[in-house]
Amino acid sequence: MADKRDYYEVLGVSRDATADDLKKAYRKLAVKYHPDKNPDDKSAEEKFKEVSEAYDVLNDDQKRAAYDRYGHAAFAGGMGGGAGGGGMHDPFDIFKEVFGGGGGVFESFFGGGGGSQRRSGGPQRGSDLRYALEITLEEAAHGAEREIEYERLVSCKTCTGSGSASGSGKKTCRTCGGAGQVISSRGFFQVQQTCPDCGGTGETITDPCKPCRGVGRVKERTRVRLRIPAGIEEGSRLRSQGNGDTGTAGGAPGDLYVVMHLKPHDVFQRDGDDLHCEMPMSFTTAALGGELTVPTIEGKATVKIPAGTQSGTTFRLRSKGLKHLGGANNGDLYVHVQIAVPTKLNSDQKAKLQEFANLIGENASEMEESFFEKAKKFFS
Ligand SMILES: [Zn+2]
Ligand SMILES: [Zn+2]
Repeated sequence: MADKRDYYEVLGVSRDATADDLKKAYRKLAVKYHPDKNPDDKSAEEKFKEVSEAYDVLNDDQKRAAYDRYGHAAFAGGMGGGAGGGGMHDPFDIFKEVFGGGGGVFESFFGGGGGSQRRSGGPQRGSDLRYALEITLEEAAHGAEREIEYERLVSCKTCTGSGSASGSGKKTCRTCGGAGQVISSRGFFQVQQTCPDCGGTGETITDPCKPCRGVGRVKERTRVRLRIPAGIEEGSRLRSQGNGDTGTAGGAPGDLYVVMHLKPHDVFQRDGDDLHCEMPMSFTTAALGGELTVPTIEGKATVKIPAGTQSGTTFRLRSKGLKHLGGANNGDLYVHVQIAVPTKLNSDQKAKLQEFANLIGENASEMEESFFEKAKKFFS
């Protein structure tokens, strides 16, 4: 403990750093030294603990004031070697924000009611939930109705959310005397913290309800129908109010956010409201001109091809793109034509093609001519 580093120094911030400065500095360092990113690295682990401890103290106004006055002595015997203290800030709280939750389809993202709110006896808002939904380009173009099924926490029906089997099996918590908070001594200081036995509710349950194990909430599969508006974009979120986790102690429910992910399409690429597609075209159509039938998101359309069309030419079909979300205008469809070179010619076809080549001579096209004109110096 003698050579403990200064907490401000550990986080690399000045002594007048704001809460925001602290949070930023902490996140940066915590991400850097996180054990998941540094497996089997003892020094990183030590750093991570050091950083967490420094943040835990400086982020708490009371503890910070104590530290500013008395330095590490303020917590002598309490905070010492790591995660022991009951009031220790849980670094993983903040990690949910940094990394955006676990890898599954389903993530609980802002925690209960967000921010610094810790467990306490009062009503708590339920968590917001997030569901990633894959939709096709056609669904995005025309709008669609989809039903999704997901799991959320709802009030336990057996105990109506009380957590007690009999509904009345509660008694005042002996540890905190019902206050929900306990006061512990740390060095010169008395620190108030959430009661570890009742989690801040001030009551303990004597006959925990079986289905919810006394928690008052259980997981339930829930179905929600949602209407996807035409023109919706990749990454858009639809909010379904009140369809997140149920709150506790009468708290409001969280919301469900459905995040749209567009499946790649075989034919079209999307760019905002516009669509693009590559379209093969025969050499003869390109040379002689004609009509080309192209796919659209509605079905198909005909494009007039002028004689002498080059490979890579783009044709724009007005209003054949996607509907603008909530607006009247449609995007456009861009058809990029590529001349398809035949690969399986029979001898008769080959002979005819050779005949054609002989007929037009070596400088087959104006394009080639002008190219050779420009590139003359390379060939001489
Ligand atoms: Zn229950
Ligand atoms: Zn208690």
